[in-house]
Amino acid sequence: MASMLENAVSPLQLVEQLAQRYDDVPVEAIVKEDLLRRGMAWSPEALEVAARHKRRAYFIFSFDMVPVSAMDQDESRRAPEEVRLSGGLWSFRPVIVSVRLNPASPYRVESKDGVLVLALDGHPVSNVELQNSPAYYDRTLASGKPIPDIAPTIEWGYLLYLTVFRLCQYFGAKEECQFCDINENYRQQKAAGRPYTSVKSVAEILEALEIIDAADSDSKAYTVTGGSITSTLEGKSEVDFYRQYPEAIEKRFPRRWISKVVVQALARDEVQKLRDAGVQIYHPNFEVWDRRLFESLCAGKARFIGREEWIRRILDAATVFAPEHVIPNFVAGVEMATPAGFASVDEAIASTREGLDFFMSHGISPRFTTWCPEPLSALGKEQPGAPLEYHVRLLREYRDTHAKYRLPVPPGYGEPGLGKAVFSVSSFMDVLPSSQS
Ligand code: SF4
Repeated sequence: MASMLENAVSPLQLVEQLAQRYDDVPVEAIVKEDLLRRGMAWSPEALEVAARHKRRAYFIFSFDMVPVSAMDQDESRRAPEEVRLSGGLWSFRPVIVSVRLNPASPYRVESKDGVLVLALDGHPVSNVELQNSPAYYDRTLASGKPIPDIAPTIEWGYLLYLTVFRLCQYFGAKEECQFCDINENYRQQKAAGRPYTSVKSVAEILEALEIIDAADSDSKAYTVTGGSITSTLEGKSEVDFYRQYPEAIEKRFPRRWISKVVVQALARDEVQKLRDAGVQIYHPNFEVWDRRLFESLCAGKARFIGREEWIRRILDAATVFAPEHVIPNFVAGVEMATPAGFASVDEAIASTREGLDFFMSHGISPRFTTWCPEPLSALGKEQPGAPLEYHVRLLREYRDTHAKYRLPVPPGYGEPGLGKAVFSVSSFMDVLPSSQS
């Protein structure tokens, strides 16, 4: 049992043993998943270095394992968005990892004469590189709002992340997804004094993109997203609110970036509206496959739309967009969260394998965001993430099912393969072969 293994060995031994047992999964991906589920600590000296680089924008959720108010070193303002690991104990090929803060993590970034190193249990395991802050990150809109509030980039500069509505209308314990801290994160960021616009106007987005377009050649895609709209926002339904952004962006910058939208599973005529607005990739996030868990972890979605309808709408969307352009997210690991989740890795893998197989048999490749228990979410109270073995086995299932159905590389994520992948909140792109087309 993975949980027994986790409890029996040190974090460093755990990585080494899993790397031996699953030697078809790169150790880089194993460490990346471990960092995503456990978070990382930063030494004071390393934070000094990080503060001179591109810093975290808190692009939608907190993705931290402590609230901002409990960060003794002001990490939320000084830590970087991402790290790129290379070399070291296991001769890493470059791998990009989203930074999730956890001062109690066995992973700690340290600085030796200004050179950053990742240590695990006190043992140096890889070199750490940070991304320079793009020049446009220092710019502001005419209103004074900073660019990182309105249009931050993630994935090492590949993706512009446009959270145009920083709240969700699913509200409270009976509606909010249990793993999600969007509403609480908004409150904590405002309380901490961060410029954090709740609803971004189309004009603000266009103004920010004008600045970025003139200065940047790294970004290749944008995502328009935010919380669910169950009634209306500014008098508009969910689809009409969100589609106005790609519509305006594509009118002003036709096909300058790959256009992606993350919203709920919408009816076919509404999905058509997104396509007509110029959207190229649609993410109707499914989150967790198991019926019982979907209904308890995503109670709002289950009540307002329902699991069967959600699935039907995903399949319908694949008749509006090409199937490979419909990419539902799964929150990897949340199916093992207590109290309702699976108790064993075998059961959790069997369930999610079924979901992957179902969607992939229809030409639809889901993708993952690795779950970490955020303390401001309902699930985040005093529980660890899923066992590392679960994440390693999930990556194998993804890779093998993807190969079984001979699916194309999911578009909108850049190149696949270790050393090339930029997607930073899961290793699913790192484990796909780089030769695929
Ligand atoms: S629908 Fe669920 S996951 Fe999405 S923002 Fe709302 S609470 Fe969070």
